[in-house]
Amino acid sequence: MPRPTYRSRKGWRRIFTRTPGGTTKLRYERKKHDYPKCAICGRKLNIPRLTIREERRGYRTPGRPYSGNVCPSCLRDGIKAAVRQLAGM
Ligand SMILES: [Zn+2]
Repeated sequence: MPRPTYRSRKGWRRIFTRTPGGTTKLRYERKKHDYPKCAICGRKLNIPRLTIREERRGYRTPGRPYSGNVCPSCLRDGIKAAVRQLAGM
């Protein structure tokens, strides 16, 4: 019987690995998060899928504002709208 944490498949995935002795062993690995998506249009961002641990270790997103949250085209539209509002157009 696996450990209680591993019984739920919510955060863990099962990997069958073959050992040098030839037997198959069950190994558990943390699942990766879903693809990061744009907060406005929902399009997939150009950021890899990461595990919680990998995210914590620091994956660097592009240097532009709202990167990792909003896609470049939505950001462009947002900046244009903000500037037009400031200019009173
Ligand atoms: Zn978008």
